[in-house]
Amino acid sequence: NVSVSTATSVSQDKLLGGLLSAAFDESSCQSRYKSNLYRKPSPFPLSPYLVQKLRKYEARHKKCGPRTKRYRRAVKLLKAGRNTDDSECKYVVWFPCNGLGNRMLTIASTFLYALLTDRVLLVHVPAEQEGLFCEPFPVSSWVLPGSFPQNNPHKLHIGAPESYANMLKNNIVRNDDGPGAPASSSLPPYVYLHLEQFQLKLSDNVFCDEDQVTLSKFNWMLLKSDSYFAPALFLTPMFEAELAKMFPRREAVFHHLGRYLFHPTNRVWGIVRRYYEAYLARVDEKIGFQIRIFPEKPIKFENMYEQLMRCVREQRLLPELGPAEPPTNATADAGDGKVKAVLIASLYSGYYEKIRGMYYESPTKSGEIVAVFQPSHEEQQQYTSNDHNQKALAEIYLLSYCDKITMSAWSTFGYVAYSFAGVKPWILIRPDWNRETSDVACVRSTSVEPCLHSPPILGCRAKTDVDVAAVKPYVRHCEDVGFGLKLF
Ligand code: GDP
Repeated sequence: NVSVSTATSVSQDKLLGGLLSAAFDESSCQSRYKSNLYRKPSPFPLSPYLVQKLRKYEARHKKCGPRTKRYRRAVKLLKAGRNTDDSECKYVVWFPCNGLGNRMLTIASTFLYALLTDRVLLVHVPAEQEGLFCEPFPVSSWVLPGSFPQNNPHKLHIGAPESYANMLKNNIVRNDDGPGAPASSSLPPYVYLHLEQFQLKLSDNVFCDEDQVTLSKFNWMLLKSDSYFAPALFLTPMFEAELAKMFPRREAVFHHLGRYLFHPTNRVWGIVRRYYEAYLARVDEKIGFQIRIFPEKPIKFENMYEQLMRCVREQRLLPELGPAEPPTNATADAGDGKVKAVLIASLYSGYYEKIRGMYYESPTKSGEIVAVFQPSHEEQQQYTSNDHNQKALAEIYLLSYCDKITMSAWSTFGYVAYSFAGVKPWILIRPDWNRETSDVACVRSTSVEPCLHSPPILGCRAKTDVDVAAVKPYVRHCEDVGFGLKLF
């Protein structure tokens, strides 16, 4: 029956081959179904095993999520200061850190961790993040209820006595699990996993089997991170086999998990859709430039602009300017009349003004038309403004619809955009610490995975600091952060 099979394939396409659950009401979150229509189909096949794992996760979330009696029981035990070993539901609670790009990368890493450890992911949503994302799991919520007893993010820091590292130091837990290791019921009611980079090293004593066995005994885990720690999970021996089944193509971890988890709410989707339909829908090619200047490494406008233009020239990203108008009888294959859109994401308007001015004042050699757009220029980063974050999210999405992306080194904002797109970006290399300019303008990324800026020390109790990229065939150092690691 032709019509049935067509209907099935259409709905399968809509659900991204089973990545998305069919159990949602479409109108409540239009971006879930519409966003991918603005992109080319994903180049990365989805493993049926991952799909199965996601459906199982959704069932667990429904069973254990907020407003269930299992959740109420778990909170009651937490309030009573007790950890039990008969718990049906275990939780990992994510707390925010840094800007939106960082948050999306750490939520996805925490979700992957929840998938691997059979925990339920709950998210502490501060005011500036409210109303940005749709609920990702059907018939339930991932939002941590306001009445949660350990709801104070300020208590979560490297010195917190509840942090796993400090519990180890103070002999409250042991990571050898041998005779004499404490039983689950004698453990504190929660553990805090502090995964913030410290001097560009991710916390030690976490990505090791022994530690994971100990951590698995806690019913409640609170977690705060500033790093895309998914690659570190691949370095934990006990997760290796499962991860290989979930991600036969390891470079598509954030690409799939990000497309599964993050869907702008109808309000934010309105911004994305209006902009896309007004400026990008009808062009022949879309090229995204994301320019991020970090306070810790300021780069002068002229230097950044010169580097961007050098990259554009070397990689032939935009048509060259010509001395005069091309003849009116130029042939179609000379590109005459084709429109290339340049989408600029930046806190500042200078790059847009200059590039737009250039293509306004001069013709291109090929006769192609270059149209330059920038949705906003907020001037300042504002971590705590909801309106500001809505625009940031909209721009991450708009960048992710581009066919080619050039981005600033080190930016998690850019990482999220290219990973969603499934496009390997050109990365504008950061000048060395003692220089104002970089000799290399840009380098093409070898993978669509984000970079983990702060790898953990491998070797666990052996404490040998080996170069992970030299021993694991599926990670390599990042183009923009030499000591960083990325899956490929
Ligand atoms: P990173 O600091 O580049 O790794 O990215 P984050 O997203 O974690 O933090 C940067 C924050 O600055 C963003 O979340 C935005 O709030 C803001 N920001 C930076 N660049 C842009 C931009 O191009 N457009 C908008 N709207 N906001 C930006």
